[in-house]
Amino acid sequence: MRGRLIILTAPSGAGKSTIARALRERFPELVFSVSATTRPPRPGEQNGRDYVFLSEEEFRRWIEEGKLIEYEEVYPGRFYGTPREPLERALQAGQTVLLDVDVQGARHLKSLYGDRALAIFIAPPDLQELARRLRARGTETEESLRTRLERARMEMAASGAFDLTIVNADLCQAIEETARAVAAFMQKPIFEQQ
Ligand code: ADP
Ligand code: 5GP
Repeated sequence: MRGRLIILTAPSGAGKSTIARALRERFPELVFSVSATTRPPRPGEQNGRDYVFLSEEEFRRWIEEGKLIEYEEVYPGRFYGTPREPLERALQAGQTVLLDVDVQGARHLKSLYGDRALAIFIAPPDLQELARRLRARGTETEESLRTRLERARMEMAASGAFDLTIVNADLCQAIEETARAVAAFMQKPIFEQQ
C-alpha cells in the first residue's frame, strides 16, 4: 500500500463538503471516496457522484458482504459507509484519497491507517452559527435539523482526537489553512511500520 488518506470530519453544517470541493479543485489528483448511504438524495445530488444511495436492505447486504471498510448509523435509521474496494484500489495505486466522514468513521479510519492518514476536524465558530448554516442550506427538515444539532455536541467534544482542527469562521481562510495542511502532508515521507 503506497497511498494516503485525507479525512475531513465535522458536525453536519460546519462546512466540510464546501471545503472538500475547494480541495478537489486545488488538488485535482485527489480521489474522492464516494460513500454509500441510506439517506435520500438532496436536490442536485447524483447517485455514484455524491453518494451511492442504497435502501436499508441493500446497505445491510453490503455490510454482510464486507463491502464497507467502516460504517455508522450516523443518525437514527440513516446509515453511511465507506466502500472498501475503491479505497483499497486507489491506495494500492499510490493515490491520495479524500474522505468526508463523521467523527466515529474518522476515528476508525485513523486507527486503521495511522500515519498514512491525516484526519482534519472542521469546527464551526459555535453551535449557534452551525444551526444558522444548516437552516440557511435549506436541505433539512426541522426534525433532521434537531437530530443533527443534538449530535453536534458530541461531535464537538471529539475534536481533540484528530491530527488538526480548523475553525471554519472565514471560509477562504479555512480553505487556505486546510490546503496548506494537505500540501504538507502530501510531501511528508512516511516510514512503513514493520
Ligand atoms: P457540511 O458538509 O459540513 O455539512 P456544508 O459544506 O454543506 O457543510 O456547509 C453548510 C452550509 O454553510 C452551506 O450552505 C455552506 O455554503 C455554508 N458555509 C460553509 N462555510 C461557511 C462559512 N465559513 N461562512 C458561512 N457559511 C458557510
Ligand atoms: P450528510 O447527510 O450531511 O451528507 O452527511 C451526514 C454525516 O455523515 C456527515 O458527518 C458525513 O461526513 C457523514 N458521512 C458521510 N459519508 C460517511 C461514511 O462513509 N462513513 C461515515 N462514518 N460517515 C459518513
